[in-house]
Amino acid sequence: MVGASVAYRLAEAGAAVTVLERDLPGGGTSATSFSWTNSNNKPPRTYHDLNVAGMRAHAALRAEFGDIPWWHGGGSLEWEFDEPERRAQRERVERLRAWGYAAEWITPAQLREIEPDVSLDAVRDAPIAYFPDEGWLDPVVFAHAMLAAAALHGARIQTGVRVTNLVLEAGRIAGVDTAGRGRVTADIVVNCAGRWANEAVQATELHIPLAPTIGFLVFTPPVPGRLRRVVRAPQCHLRPDGAGRLMLHRDETDEGLPRDIRPDPRSPEALDLVRRAAQILPGIAGVLPEAVRIGFRPYPADGYSAVGPIPGVSGYYIVVTHSGVTLAPFLGRAVAEELIGGRDTPELAPFRPSRFFKSAG
Ligand SMILES: Cc1cc2nc3c(=O)[nH]c(=O)nc-3n(C[C@H](O)[C@H](O)[C@H](O)COP(=O)(O)OP(=O)(O)OC[C@H]3O[C@@H](n4cnc5c(N)ncnc54)[C@H](O)[C@@H]3O)c2cc1C
Repeated sequence: MVGASVAYRLAEAGAAVTVLERDLPGGGTSATSFSWTNSNNKPPRTYHDLNVAGMRAHAALRAEFGDIPWWHGGGSLEWEFDEPERRAQRERVERLRAWGYAAEWITPAQLREIEPDVSLDAVRDAPIAYFPDEGWLDPVVFAHAMLAAAALHGARIQTGVRVTNLVLEAGRIAGVDTAGRGRVTADIVVNCAGRWANEAVQATELHIPLAPTIGFLVFTPPVPGRLRRVVRAPQCHLRPDGAGRLMLHRDETDEGLPRDIRPDPRSPEALDLVRRAAQILPGIAGVLPEAVRIGFRPYPADGYSAVGPIPGVSGYYIVVTHSGVTLAPFLGRAVAEELIGGRDTPELAPFRPSRFFKSAG
């Protein structure tokens, strides 16, 4: 998602862009993402604002593209059972409101009206929080649309081309080496390889510290139902995933999973998630998981985005981040404005990769 968005905005701004993608667009983490567009719990304020800018940039694409079939608005719903979590939720809702973010409490009757399939038994006596400006996204559809738009501006999209190293000449990155396609020269290399960002770079002094975390996603087959929104409940998190399928996730399931776990739809974890989802949507009782996908969140080591040049070399810029689904359209524009327009993006000031390279100044 991130590379496709960056490519589009650079090409639109007049750069001669070549996209080198090892696989197909969507071959990376963007295809194994819960893809909830939000700034729901992203302190501090600077990171919250960055994610809000991402949400706004998604909405703004409608004016530009007309149809944005990859984006699904309608908000998200959330409730908690235990008092410590409820207290944290109340405090978060208050903080979000104070920051001008749409956050409301709705009644069970209102929940029934907007999501009639959700069982009120699954909510018990919990207060229900509603975040109307949030949504979810089809990342691969978005990536394809951005690359198609980039191609209209002359970008060359080369798939099945793996970058093996940066070409470093006298302190300047002059291009990349690839497996099988030789050397590609460039004035500027923008590394958008997500959690693989360091693998394309042999000079370890140019690596950024990454701390990816595992995410376990379960998919149902198409099921009869009307769910439209992201639901985050103590039982599990769920959202529609197109054609009647549901995507399920639970933070507690991720915790402690081995990194080499095989994605097995008959695994106890997958069966447990569908059982939990059926408590929220009784209409899916008895449904078996159709697929499991394992993703790794591309967190830079401190959890925040890393967007900008790497100290000590010129001609090189990285864009590696968690929440990349939310942030991609904003980052695309920002990177193009920085690299082509020569304007710094104030929102990115706290998120420069240079924070990881203190000794390099
Ligand atoms: C379980 C899970 C849940 C998540 N939930 C959310 C969420 O709710 N909301 C949200 O905003 N974010 C969420 N995220 C994070 C979000 O998915 C990522 O931040 C985002 O997908 C990163 O996009 P990207 O384009 O940077 O990386 P990727 O999608 O990984 O793209 C990198 C691309 O680079 C290519 N590549 C890699 N190495 C090379 C190479 N050497 N040469 C050429 N090409 C290469 C890959 O094939 C890939 O296509 C979640 C992530 C996970 C795993």
